[in-house]
Amino acid sequence: MKIQLHNTLTGEKDDFKPLKEGSVSMYNCGPTVYDYAHIGNFRTFIFSDVLRRMFEFNGYKVDAVMNITDVDDKTIKRSQKENISLEALTRKYEEIFFDDLKSLNIERFKKTPRATESIPEMISLIEKMLENGTAYKSSDGIYFDITKSKNYGRLANLNLENTTRERIANDEYDKENARDFSLWKFYTEEDGDVLYEAPFGKGRPGWHIECSAMSMTNLHAETIDIHTGGSDLIFPHHTNEIAQSEAVTGKTFVNYWMHSGFITVDGKKMSKSLGNIFTLQDLKAKNIDPIAYRYFVLSAHYSTLLNFTWEALEGAETALKRLRDKVNNLPDGGKIVDTEFISFINDDLNTPKALALVHDILKDENVSPADKKATILKMDEVLGLDLDKVENIVVPDEVLKLMQERDVARAEKDFAKSDELRNKIEKLGFKVKDTESGAQLDLS
Ligand SMILES: [Zn+2]
Repeated sequence: MKIQLHNTLTGEKDDFKPLKEGSVSMYNCGPTVYDYAHIGNFRTFIFSDVLRRMFEFNGYKVDAVMNITDVDDKTIKRSQKENISLEALTRKYEEIFFDDLKSLNIERFKKTPRATESIPEMISLIEKMLENGTAYKSSDGIYFDITKSKNYGRLANLNLENTTRERIANDEYDKENARDFSLWKFYTEEDGDVLYEAPFGKGRPGWHIECSAMSMTNLHAETIDIHTGGSDLIFPHHTNEIAQSEAVTGKTFVNYWMHSGFITVDGKKMSKSLGNIFTLQDLKAKNIDPIAYRYFVLSAHYSTLLNFTWEALEGAETALKRLRDKVNNLPDGGKIVDTEFISFINDDLNTPKALALVHDILKDENVSPADKKATILKMDEVLGLDLDKVENIVVPDEVLKLMQERDVARAEKDFAKSDELRNKIEKLGFKVKDTESGAQLDLS
């Protein structure tokens, strides 16, 4: 069955052709473990989880790696601020991260290497670049010479006309500042006790070289099928990964680059100053099932800009609970019927269509109740929504309050207000039925 994936490198939806028949190698840029990951990060991890599940659904053997960045500018700074060791800080957030993955039904990848445990491989890549002249030594570290790279910046569609021969030591910078980037940072007192010995001078790796080394080492290949990440990683991180990996091997680093879209909150970019960065801990504090967030994310295509609101999340939670309730009321023992499910997910992971199909099957009178259940639970192998979980639908207080307000509006014949309240109730995932004996919630 044909699989098509949107490839950032070509800008097109490409037919997927694996390097090795029947198997796929995937590298996913993992978290930098210096704080709680936020819901925007988890959108990317849900996306790579569904991608892996889609391949398994198609019978592929998947070799997937997700790294843990436990040494970089951010982790060092935070550990110093909290006055604890780098290891104590990063292990704490690594553990929280794995718990969060679990609560979102994101299956842990087979390999989750830590950057601090792959330093020798990074050093060896840097040595090769120094030997072949694509890297050079300066007073504060080893830098990659971007003018020596073929097609530098192709992934990010960079215009390099105004590139100056300058260097940048920071791990993160913007497109306007494309320049020679840091592979290795020589030790300074600011790094405290974080340092590694290397033939070219003691110090620590830059962020970008970490992923090149962990990808090649853990997937045992110089070229892999797929590399994923959030679209904020296209530049500089993935652009630099390509440049340095291909400078060492002379081969294509990755055949398919896939990126998930941003999440905004109430239409605004998530940022500390706006106080709108939410974590799974915030969801749990509001007693919201984290899988409702997964449902919310899957209801949009992974590549789109997705706007998060608490109202939309609560609506997703209600929809999910009702779906589970319906599925659980169906009898067991059915068979899986043919649907378009596989063609939807193989079409660049069209999860909105796949979810709509689940609802359509429930309504389909030509499918027996037992077959509905078997078919939907098979689809859930990709969706990961725990659709066989038993739910008791509880109507939130907010909905009950809105219903009461609406009764008052109707009694006063204020129909504009009554319609407005109906819309609010529907946004929270409940339908209103007006009957002769008054308004009721449609819980079917
Ligand atoms: Zn990475």
